[in-house]
Order: sequence, then structure tokens, then C-alpha cells
Amino acid sequence: MAGLSKSKLIAHRQCPKRLWLQTYKPELQEIDSGQTSRMDAGNLVGDIARSLHPTGILIESGSLSQDLIDTKTLVSAKRRKPLFEATFKASNVLVKVDLLLPVRNGYKLGEVKSSTKVKPYYYDDSAIQAWVVKKCGLSIIQTNLVHICNRFVYPGNDSYNGLFTHANINPEILELEVQVPKWIKAAQKTLKGVEPRIDPGTQCNQPFDCPFINYCSPAKKPAKYPVNILPRSSKLISELEEAGYKDLRKVPKKKLNNSRHLRIWNVTKKGKYYLDPKAKKLLDDFSWPRYYIDFETISLAVPVWKGTRPYQKIPFQWSCHIERKDKSLKHYEFLADGNNDPRREFAETLIKAVKKRGPVFVYNAGFENMIMRELASDFPEYEKQLKAIINRVVDLLPIGRDYYYHPNMMGSWSIKKVLPTIAPELDYSQLDVADGGMAMEAFAEIMHADTPPKAKLKLQDDLLTYCERDTLAMVKIAHFFQEN
Ligand code: SF4
Repeated sequence: MAGLSKSKLIAHRQCPKRLWLQTYKPELQEIDSGQTSRMDAGNLVGDIARSLHPTGILIESGSLSQDLIDTKTLVSAKRRKPLFEATFKASNVLVKVDLLLPVRNGYKLGEVKSSTKVKPYYYDDSAIQAWVVKKCGLSIIQTNLVHICNRFVYPGNDSYNGLFTHANINPEILELEVQVPKWIKAAQKTLKGVEPRIDPGTQCNQPFDCPFINYCSPAKKPAKYPVNILPRSSKLISELEEAGYKDLRKVPKKKLNNSRHLRIWNVTKKGKYYLDPKAKKLLDDFSWPRYYIDFETISLAVPVWKGTRPYQKIPFQWSCHIERKDKSLKHYEFLADGNNDPRREFAETLIKAVKKRGPVFVYNAGFENMIMRELASDFPEYEKQLKAIINRVVDLLPIGRDYYYHPNMMGSWSIKKVLPTIAPELDYSQLDVADGGMAMEAFAEIMHADTPPKAKLKLQDDLLTYCERDTLAMVKIAHFFQEN
């Protein structure tokens, strides 16, 4: 029988069928596209965690059996050193330990995570590791969850002391450790048997999205307007689904009492969009010129620019359309080159483009305002100008949410849902960068030293096209509200 590993046991803990499928029918799994970038981020976090123990030794020969031998030699050496990826095997379960740090009378075991807090499902991971390592005869004094500290501010010069919090999780895992032999037996039994008959349920996305979901629950033909398009109402949706309602149009009016739900229901039933003339009235009142702006940001687990924090949203791009009373449009933009901290140049160029007068339209003001507030606090010399821009901000999202709905929006007022109902010619699906997540990945690639110059140019082009599309979309939406 093939051996087990920590990740296989964790898969079995989530669902026995998951482990069976990944062992015998791995071709059925569907890996989501964000997984590669999450793995890259995780690898970088691991590298930094190791760099904080400069005398440490990385055990990575390329062969697991050699890694086992190397680990054995190093843990029995007279002068013990921190070990990275120390490899152990017990009861046919193989584990690799991120950090094994020698302390008086034993070791501290560390599992490195790129999250900013301890999540309950990490305990199983660490319990398996600690159990196997102890079975191999090592004395583990403490097991730590080594996670990112979100209060850390990068001081520059590759100095990452303080980036990690070592959370002692001994109390939580000690009682789990005694269950590990049971988990191993159960997993071995599953692997000896035929494909388990388990129906999809809450386990399919807790604690992780299972990559076999499409195999286990093949898509049924969905209703044209499923009841789950009703926004912010999971309780009501469950009640309606339990009562057998699939299509929103079949739900009786008396079952809905929220005015937004009623509007969605009404418009969906009629099949015709709704636009309240109040939207026009509201927009008519704004002066000219009008500015339409949109920002793109990147969040890095390991900050690379002095003065920034882990996962801080760092703005690297803006787009601005300026519209005059005669409806003429001019477009301005900024995209950082990815070599240096982009924030100062971002703020300077934005202030210059947005001038001093005229409404500044955004779509979902919370985000743009938060970025400008952070810039104002990080660069006090621009505080006055940035706060003045914030005071001019007009949010198009609530105007749409209060006064517009089209059946094709399927319960969402995101710009990507609204735009095709108003200006289908501005289709995002043709773009190589088509949403904020893709923009972040594209900029991360631009920042990477190994990305060839030609590929960088293409990525820059994709980003500029995408962000310009976002602000042009806002112009179209505002025109539609005013002219219909
Ligand atoms: S999709 Fe659900 S039922 Fe199927 S293997 Fe995954 S967790 Fe198990």
C-alpha cells in the first residue's frame, strides 16, 4: 500500500472520498487558477521564515529517502542546527517540517503559514506533524504556528525580523495528537476499499474547496433566474429552496418583503429594465468637468517596500476619464513600472490629473477613499490635496443600486454586471486582464525580475486597457442614467 503524507491525511479528514479520488482518479480534479499564485506567495513566506535562522540547513536532496537519512544524521549530530524541511516517517506516514529549531532538551516545531492568524483547521496539520516527529524519537518541547504579523512594518534592507508571530498551539494539538493513529487507520482502510459512496455536503468546501466538486455534483441545468440571486439573504434563499422554489419568477410576491428584493423580482418577472428618473435628476446637478477614476492595487504577504505592511493594499495604477460639458472625453493614466514603491508617484500624478474642481466619480467609493486616506497618512505632504479629492467623490454604485436594475444583472450591481446591460460593446470577456485579481497577478509578474521585457510590455498593455475600460464603463453608466 502506498504511504500516506500529512496532506493525504488532511484530505481524508475533509472527506474520505476526496483522498480516494486523488489517489486513484487524480485526473478528475480541477485545480483553480489562483492556486499557483497562492503557492508562489506561500513559497516566498517560507523562504523569509528560513532566512531568519541563518545557521539553518535546508534538507532538500530531491529524494525523499535521502532526505530521511539526512534528517536522521543531522538530528543526531553533536551540534544541532535549525533544520528546514526536516523529513520524518512513522507508521508509513511521511511529513516534512517547515522549521525544526533546537532548544534545551529538544526541539520547537514550526509550521509556517502565510495567513495573519491561526485558523482552527491548522491544528490537524500540526498534530500530525508533531505525532510523527515524536514517534521518530524526538522530544518536541513546543509546537508553533508561525504566521504573518499584520502589524509588522517593513523597515527596508531585507530586514524581516518581526514579520512572524510564533503562536504556541501546544494546548490545542496535544489532545488531537492522540487521535492521529485513528486517522491513519481510517485513511488506510479507505484506500484499501472501493470508491466511498459519499454525497456532496458542507464538507465539499470546508475547510477547503474540494477539487472534485464537479465530479461529485455534476451541474444540473440551473433555473434561468435562480432564487439565490437575491442579494444578502442566505436565510431567505435556503427557505425558498427548501420550499421547492427554483426560479425567482415563480416565487409569490408575499414571500418577499425587502424593497430591493421586490424590485429584482418585479423586473425579472417583467423581463424589462427599471430606471428611476431620480438617477438622472441626481446626476444633472453635478458640475463640469467631471472626472471618472479607478485604482488597481496589489497586496503582498511579504512587504517589499519600506514602510509598508503585510497584505497592505498598495496602489500601482489609476485611470481617469475627464468629461467636459460638450461630452468630449480625455483619458489620463498611470501605471507603475514595478521596480520601486509606486505610492508617491501614484499620489502625485493622480493629484495633477484630477485638478481642483469638479465631481470625481468612482464605482464603490469605499475602496478608492480608503486608498486615498492611506496615502494621505503615509505622505502627509499630499494630505490636503488627497482629502480634497475625497471630498469631491461621488459614488455611482449606490445610485445604480437605488435606481437601476436589469434582469441580466442577476442580483448584482458590480460594474461587470451592470455594464453589459448598458454598453454590451464594452465587453470585458475579450480582455486578457479582466478583473482586479488578474490585474494584481499581472503586476506581480511585472515586478518579478525574471519576467522577460517583452512579456512585461504585453502585461503593461493589458493592464492599461483594463483600467481604461473600467473608467470608460463609468462614463457610459452615467450617460445611460442621464439619457434614458
Ligand atoms: S466534492 Fe465533496 S463529496 Fe466529493 S470528494 Fe470532494 S468533499 Fe467529498
